[in-house]
Amino acid sequence: MEQRNLTDTACKLYGTKSCALLNMRACEACPLKGREADPEIHTDLRTFCELQPEGTVAQLFESETCTLCTTEPKGTPTCFAVFDMAHEEPKKLATRKWLSKQKTGFMVPLQFACCSKCRRRILLAEYLPLIAPIVLTAIVLPFVLIEKTAQTLRAAAQWLPLALVFAALVGGYAFGKLLAYLWRRRSGSVMIADVRRHPIVAEMEEKGWRPLFGERRPHLAFTKKRIDKGLGSAPSAVYDLPDVPETEEKISD
Ligand SMILES: [Zn+2]
Repeated sequence: MEQRNLTDTACKLYGTKSCALLNMRACEACPLKGREADPEIHTDLRTFCELQPEGTVAQLFESETCTLCTTEPKGTPTCFAVFDMAHEEPKKLATRKWLSKQKTGFMVPLQFACCSKCRRRILLAEYLPLIAPIVLTAIVLPFVLIEKTAQTLRAAAQWLPLALVFAALVGGYAFGKLLAYLWRRRSGSVMIADVRRHPIVAEMEEKGWRPLFGERRPHLAFTKKRIDKGLGSAPSAVYDLPDVPETEEKISD
């Protein structure tokens, strides 16, 4: 478990499962500071646990093999592919002050342990619609800029040079999109190229979670070091801790 420096022993959440689930590094940074007496916190966090997929979201970053590879042997993770999922629970958000920073209810980062090959495949698919128009424009541009060819083009039609550059940009983008689609389809034979098809994401969607951005294809951000504080970043063992009893007795460390 990560080094945590929790010093506020007077806090009502100190030593509880709720505190462990929030997984803050230090009491000063805790979003619940000053609100720890709110009994809804424990109820809400219990709901958060119930909304977890089988094995919790922690299995994604705790995995010792790439979570996106589909063929054996699976790659060794070198980074994390991350996107956020949101849930409309807990309801009556107006009373949930501790979540007030968010427009949605719960939000959780999904952090897929990812090998370098999968990362490269995903990034290539994302960059193709940007690379293709640049390459095509670079090919067309000399014809437009060199006076001899430009003259010939202008002789055919005055607007032709400009139209050619425009066509290279727009056509290049469309061509890049097509290439990206074909590349994703090809990658699909060795990896989960569409992250929404990941069994954990599918299970979460059944439980009411939705990607926070990019409903159709969530944008994946890559990071070397995983997000290790905040809701959804706690190790899987935390979810097995006993719930906070109604009497709010503390769980001994
Ligand atoms: Zn992989």
